[in-house]
Amino acid sequence: MELETVQLNEHIAYVDNGLLGATRTGSTYVVRGDEIAIIETGTSASAPHILEGLSRLGIQPADVRHILLTHIHMDHAGGTGALLPAMPDAHVYIHSRTAKYLIEPADLLVSAQRALGPLFPLHGTVVRVPADRIVYADTLQLDLGRGVIVQAIYTPGHSPDHLAYFEVNSRCLFPGDAVGISVAVAGFDGPVTPPPASNIEAQRETFAKLLDLDIDMLLFSHYGASTVPARDHIALLQERYAHFLALVRAQWESGSIDYDAITRAMFDGERVPSQHAAIIVGWINMSVNGLVLAFERAGRKS
Ligand SMILES: [Zn+2]
Repeated sequence: MELETVQLNEHIAYVDNGLLGATRTGSTYVVRGDEIAIIETGTSASAPHILEGLSRLGIQPADVRHILLTHIHMDHAGGTGALLPAMPDAHVYIHSRTAKYLIEPADLLVSAQRALGPLFPLHGTVVRVPADRIVYADTLQLDLGRGVIVQAIYTPGHSPDHLAYFEVNSRCLFPGDAVGISVAVAGFDGPVTPPPASNIEAQRETFAKLLDLDIDMLLFSHYGASTVPARDHIALLQERYAHFLALVRAQWESGSIDYDAITRAMFDGERVPSQHAAIIVGWINMSVNGLVLAFERAGRKS
């Protein structure tokens, strides 16, 4: 597998972390001031790819001081425990709500297996993170030196623990999955709304919050730097979310869900490498289930 590393500017680079065995699907960002932070760790299978990528960037893993996680899902946080032996001085930053699943991942694995179905075996295992390495990132303001400052922005919707990270001086936003994904190699821009905790109302507020932020560049976890002006790209993903929501709601109200029809409406996999197509289709199916669960939850409340 040919995995790229990309230097975006003086302070920010990214490494293809080989997510789910595919190229250009998962990025791990490297943010450098006087100190070095990485954002996202992929799955435990990503760890060797991240270490290789760091070495291509001339970075010693032991010099990484901060590991920032956007949320607990295994394709974002799952590789953390596997990286820590190589990063003995690093602290791990995650929302306080889900930090406990890094320390004891058993419930996370059960939930992930249920949500991910056929994609679950591609996620490897989760290595425990010692509690004393974890820092709650809910209101993080991390000064890396040389004018590089990373702030956490609470962006629930995709998950209730979701944080986006914003580098104040370059005005780069690391949205994680907060506004959806943009996987160019698969030609897919769209939402990911996994069960059990995807929340439609919170997602609406997160779109509004990020559309209000003055962002220079979007740096997606899936995948890489956006080439579209940030506000336009968020607006596009907001439209795609609304479209998906309407499709799934109509089918749910009709009493039967046609996964293939929804997938065809959201994704043209014809000329996409089969490995990438399988991942996107898996994520769309998972997202249908996430919205259905959200509708059922709302139905029970009213
Ligand atoms: Zn996620």
